[in-house]
Amino acid sequence: MSNPDTNQEKKNFVPVFVPLIEQGEFKAAHDALENGWLGMGSFVQDFEQKTKEFLELEDRYVAAVSTGHAAIHLGLLLAGVGPGDEVITPSFNNIADFQAILATGADIVFCDVDEDTMCIDFDSAESMITDKTKVMIVMDYGVHVCDHDRARQVAEKHGIKIFHDAAHAFGSTYKGVKLGNQHEYTMFSFDPVKTITTIDGGLLVVKTEEEMYRLHEMRLVGMGQRASTMYQNKRAWTYNVSSLGFRYHMANMHASIGLSQMAKIDDIIESRRKHCRYYEEHLSGLEHCQIPSTAWDEVAPFLYYVKVPADQRDDFRTYLGEHGVDTGLHWQPGHWFELFENCRKADLSVTEKIGQELVSIPLHSSMSQETLDQVVTTIKSFWNK
Ligand SMILES: *Cc1c(COP(=O)(O)O)cnc(C)c1O
Repeated sequence: MSNPDTNQEKKNFVPVFVPLIEQGEFKAAHDALENGWLGMGSFVQDFEQKTKEFLELEDRYVAAVSTGHAAIHLGLLLAGVGPGDEVITPSFNNIADFQAILATGADIVFCDVDEDTMCIDFDSAESMITDKTKVMIVMDYGVHVCDHDRARQVAEKHGIKIFHDAAHAFGSTYKGVKLGNQHEYTMFSFDPVKTITTIDGGLLVVKTEEEMYRLHEMRLVGMGQRASTMYQNKRAWTYNVSSLGFRYHMANMHASIGLSQMAKIDDIIESRRKHCRYYEEHLSGLEHCQIPSTAWDEVAPFLYYVKVPADQRDDFRTYLGEHGVDTGLHWQPGHWFELFENCRKADLSVTEKIGQELVSIPLHSSMSQETLDQVVTTIKSFWNK
C-alpha cells in the first residue's frame, strides 16, 4: 500500500488546503513591485488598520510581523518570559509555539486537551501551574473556540498571563466578540494555508500603545526607526538601538496581498462555513467516522477534521489519497518529538488518543460542489467498501 503522504502527484487531486489567489492578489503583488518600496512601508500600515477594524479591537493595538511564529516569540518576550520561567501549552499545538517558548529560554510544560474540542483542558493546565509559570497558551482548534472566560479565571486565580494563539480563528467570535479582544496577547497567522494569507505573515494584538512601540523596534532588529516614517515608505539613517530585536517585520509586498485578501474576507468566511455545514450534513451518522460539533455562527473555520479509529487511520488516508482526496495530520503531539520529549508534562491521555485518530480533510475558501461531493462520496465509500 502506498504512503498516504506521497499521493500528491495524482490527477484530479483535491488538496487539503488551497489558498484563494485570484486577479486581486496578482494585481496587489504587481502594485507592490511597481511601487518599488518593497520592505516595511505604507501597505503594512494599511494592512494593520484593516485587520484592526475587522477584529473590532477595543483599546488594543496591532503589529504585523513576518510569520505567526514571530508573533508568538515577540508576544512571549513582551510578557516577560525568559530563562527559568515555564510556559504551559497543550502538547496538541503547533511546533511554532513550542519553538517560540524555547527561543525565549523558558521551559515548555505540556498539558492535555479536551476530547470534544481539542482546545486546552483547563484542569490539566491548572494542575501543572507552579511558581515558575509565567504564561499559559490557549489556542482555538480547527472549528472550535476555547472557553475564554475559563482561561481568564484560571489566569487571574494564579497570577499568570495568557497568550492566545488564534492562528486557526481569524474572524471567529467568543460570545459574540471577535477573537483578539479577550486576553493580554493574541496572535494570528497568515501563512500560505491559513484562512487568509499574506504568503507568510502574522499579527500580534497587544493591550498598550507602549507595547506596540516596543514591537515596532523588536521587529526591525531593534532599530529605533519610527514606524510612522517607514509607513510613508521612508527611513531614517540614524537611530538608536536599545532593545533585543529580530528581523521580523512584515514587508509591503506581503501586506499588499493581505489587503486583497481582506477585501473578500466576509465571502471567504461565509463560504468556508458553508462547506463545513455541507460536510456536517453529509457525513453525520457514520459509525466509525466522528465529525465535529460546534456553533457555526461563532466560527470562521480554518480546518475541518474527522476522527477515525486509530488502527484504521493509515488505511483511511491511503484510500482517500488513492481516490484523489488529500488528507492532513494536525498534529503530531509535541511530546512525541525528540526535542520536546523530556519536557515536564501532565497526563496526556486525550492527546495520545486524538493524536492517532484525527484526520484533516480538504477545506478551501472556494470549493466546487463537485469537489465537496468527491470528498463526501470517497469517505463514505471507504466505510462501505
Ligand atoms: C500556523 C500556526 C502557527 C504558526 O504560524 P506561522 O505563520 O506558520 O508561523 C501557530 N499556531 C498555530 C495554531 C498555527 O496553526
